[in-house]
Amino acid sequence: MLYEYSLITKKEHLYNITAQLREAITKSGVAEGLAVVFCPHTTAGITINENADPDVVDDMILGLGKAFPDRVEFAHFEGNSAAHLKASCIGESVTVIVSEGKPLLGTWQGVYFCEFDPPRSRKFFVKVLG
Ligand code: ZN
Repeated sequence: MLYEYSLITKKEHLYNITAQLREAITKSGVAEGLAVVFCPHTTAGITINENADPDVVDDMILGLGKAFPDRVEFAHFEGNSAAHLKASCIGESVTVIVSEGKPLLGTWQGVYFCEFDPPRSRKFFVKVLG
C-alpha cells in the first residue's frame, strides 16, 4: 500500500512526520512488515532522530549549515548547492520495521522530513509492505 502526504515548509527545519507514518501503517492493516518513507525532492531528505528535545532539531540545522556552507565557488545556477549537499548527506528515505501494527522506533526516535530549501510545497510517500 502506498500513501502520499503533503506539507508546506516555511523555513529550513526538520518536520516531524511520525504521526503520518503511524497513520499509513494503521490504514494499511499491516501488522508485521516494513515501511519505507521516501522524499521525491533533491533539496530535502528523510531522517530519524530525537523527538524529545526540540533543540536537537535546531542544532542539526545549525551543524549541517556549518558542515555545508554556501560557497562562492558553487556553479549551480539555482544558487542552492548547499541544500543539495545536505539532502544527499541526510538521504532520501528511511526504512522502519513494522511490528504489531506500529513502527518499531526507540522511545526517543521520531521520523523527520528535512527541508533545506524553503519555502516549498513538498510531498513524501509511505510504502507499507506486509
Ligand atoms: Zn538546485
